[in-house]
Amino acid sequence: MIIVLLGAPGSGKGTVAKLFTEVVNIEHISTGDIFREEIENGTEIGKKLEKTMVRGSLVPDEIVIEAIEQRLKRPSAQNGVVLDGFPRTTKQAEYLKEMLSKQGKKIDMAIQLKISDEDIIDRTIERRICSNKKCGAIYNLKYNKPRQEGICDKCGSSLIRREDDNIETIQRRIKTYHTRSEPVIKYFENEGLLYNVDLKAEDKVTKNDIKRWIKEIKN
Ligand code: AMP
Repeated sequence: MIIVLLGAPGSGKGTVAKLFTEVVNIEHISTGDIFREEIENGTEIGKKLEKTMVRGSLVPDEIVIEAIEQRLKRPSAQNGVVLDGFPRTTKQAEYLKEMLSKQGKKIDMAIQLKISDEDIIDRTIERRICSNKKCGAIYNLKYNKPRQEGICDKCGSSLIRREDDNIETIQRRIKTYHTRSEPVIKYFENEGLLYNVDLKAEDKVTKNDIKRWIKEIKN
């Protein structure tokens, strides 16, 4: 099963992707996580990307495509994937289709998490993530608080704020989303793969929602 998650920053793609992996045996691939890891590890690519990401701009297509190609080749990705944060440009979307078709595969569904710009700001400003990469749990200090302040419920590690979750960067990321990524929604609509989910800042997607969406694919 190949699922694409579409939606502005803070729309909940990371949380929904994790739920998918709990409901079906597929791998979560987040291009944002891949790049953050490169930055943390101080790799050559990481050094190049840091400024772009902190600014809230998009990483060049060539680098994204190379990164995703590597990940999709891994044995752990062969049962299926949920793509979080990719594709973000029409070029990336076209590339993905072509690459999958060479392997006799295709995208099953592109799920758009629709949320207003105001609610995105509300969510991202209050977002905290687990500092333990293997856990990666995501919280919101308003809508999805950890039981103990600053501590992850799942693994006990400390919670941190993403460097790009500040108001200036968020506003720039929203703008980038409207100009560069909205055409991707049109692209998937034309491909007949788009499935829309309307959300408010306080809404929580559940495993039952995921099961319902999967049924839609099978129908
Ligand atoms: P995310 O964690 O998905 O919000 O991504 C964080 C940042 O990583 C984005 O603001 C971009 O700078 C970069 N990024 C992640 N995925 C992509 C992509 N598919 N294309 C271009 N840049 C990306």
